[in-house]
Amino acid sequence: MVDNSVSRGSSITSETDDEPAAWETNMKAGQQLAEVIRTTLGPNGLDKMLITSDGKIIITNDGASILDRMNISNPVANLVVTVAEQQDSKVGDGTTTAVLLAGKLLSEAETLLERGVHPTAIARGYHLAASHAADALDDWTVSIDFDDDDRLREIARTVVTGKWDESGTEFLANKAVETVRAIERDGRVGFERITRKTIPGGSFYDSTVLNGLVIDMNESSTDVVSPETGLPRRYDDATIALIDQELSIDKPNGIGAVDLTSYEDYQALQDYERDIYESHADAITASGADVVFCQQSIDDPVRYLLARAGVLSVERTRRDELHKLARATGSQPVTIEELSSATVGTAETVDRRSVGPTEITVVSGFDEFKQVSVLFRGGTEHVAEETKRMLDNCFYALKLAIEDEAIVPGGGATEVGLARELRTFATGQAGKEQLAIEAFADALETIPRTLAESSGMDPIDAILELRTAHHDGASAAGLDLQTKSVADMTERGVLEPLYIKRRAVASAAEIATMIVRVDDNVSVTGDHGTHEHDHDHDHGPSGAVHSTEGYPWAVGHSMGH
Ligand code: ADP
Ligand code: MG
Repeated sequence: MVDNSVSRGSSITSETDDEPAAWETNMKAGQQLAEVIRTTLGPNGLDKMLITSDGKIIITNDGASILDRMNISNPVANLVVTVAEQQDSKVGDGTTTAVLLAGKLLSEAETLLERGVHPTAIARGYHLAASHAADALDDWTVSIDFDDDDRLREIARTVVTGKWDESGTEFLANKAVETVRAIERDGRVGFERITRKTIPGGSFYDSTVLNGLVIDMNESSTDVVSPETGLPRRYDDATIALIDQELSIDKPNGIGAVDLTSYEDYQALQDYERDIYESHADAITASGADVVFCQQSIDDPVRYLLARAGVLSVERTRRDELHKLARATGSQPVTIEELSSATVGTAETVDRRSVGPTEITVVSGFDEFKQVSVLFRGGTEHVAEETKRMLDNCFYALKLAIEDEAIVPGGGATEVGLARELRTFATGQAGKEQLAIEAFADALETIPRTLAESSGMDPIDAILELRTAHHDGASAAGLDLQTKSVADMTERGVLEPLYIKRRAVASAAEIATMIVRVDDNVSVTGDHGTHEHDHDHDHGPSGAVHSTEGYPWAVGHSMGH
């Protein structure tokens, strides 16, 4: 955890020659991180992308995923990572943009400081630029038809591009749109309607979206409901009971309560237990239930008695799933004593299926509380987790797109447009602030520059061409990385939710301003802190970052079968 408290001991004017000023140390650390990120995510990012579709190797260059795997010890670097994490958890995308922008704002700030601009003026200029950019951003929204699934797929594709190969990107974009469309109600996308499950084995392309709520049966011993008991694989118009209590007998207590000195006593205990089991099973059948879900365990004899009566019992259902079942089926989780025909609910179908090594139950058919379940597959846990993360990012982007109906062109188009706007805005401002606002504009262009580098385009030519296009009124002109040319991003379908862009610009500005403003080193508890700069020279350009696994930004994993 980062301790954001900033001590304000020394001021920038009291620096001595042998001791670098605090801002210098802080900024150096921020820049180092930005440089590491630029070289790992940036220039080689998009062409070293990818998860191969033949299922052999996974490489991610998802900004958040990479930062997750880095073990960053420098406090300032940590602040930058915090920005990235916030960006990722709040909006699911735009992480690299936020970090690149923050890094560039810091190096621009250093240049300004060297030119004698006071940190306060820089901070003020950045703040002005950021709030003007936030207002101006609305002007870059493009109008598209949000009912058009093709458009939604383009938005999802823009999230994934650069991380997975083309067919993988296509597959994920399709799944994301299928999921979100299934649960969209009155223009709102409720994530509580989505259940995510990672099921080991299979290929990434075996990932599926199922209508209904998927309950994992692996925790539940299925032998007593095996085929020989004759339980159907599928129930139609099923009555569902939910039990919020353990249906078992605590053996040690049971034994302790009876003094087992004779065969008769043993028999008595058996009878006693059988009576309890039977009364449990009777209560459930009397409620009219076809399927019972229990949050805790159900002793095998009860399950057996229920199976004989044609009732499927599922034990150890997770609390959140029991809650979803309650909402979806209209039944109440109750104790066995409270269970009655008034507390049960219904589902159109309850379906038992095998997915790879896992037995699942799909409960579906609710109008009121429509549910979808996404089953993530992939040869290794890592692939499945990466798939999950990427799909989640797509869900976010689609939710924002559908709910806000606000989209901006990607491929650097919006950044170039904003930079242009800021340069005009700067001319009306006071001298020092003006410089900072122009620096902010330059920093925004680091996004198209990085995209150009990553696709092997000449970054200088690309920026000049983009500026010209925007000057000529092509406000959606961005970089088409496939054809390596400047093109209309709306036509090419490179589209991003406005909100993601807004957050990325705002959080980058926030962190840069914060670092420029502090007049002492940002301190953390423990050994880090004001002496961090002593080690700068030893560590080289990546001194701020210690990778945890050697090569964290491109983790290769073979996928077995
Ligand atoms: P990450 O998701 O890696 O953290 P960001 O979302 O911040 O990175 O940035 C990705 C950038 O790539 C965005 O500027 C987006 O517009 C751009 N992009 C995505 N797909 C394409 C594409 N097909 N052509 C051009 N640019 C693209
Ligand atoms: Mg992205």
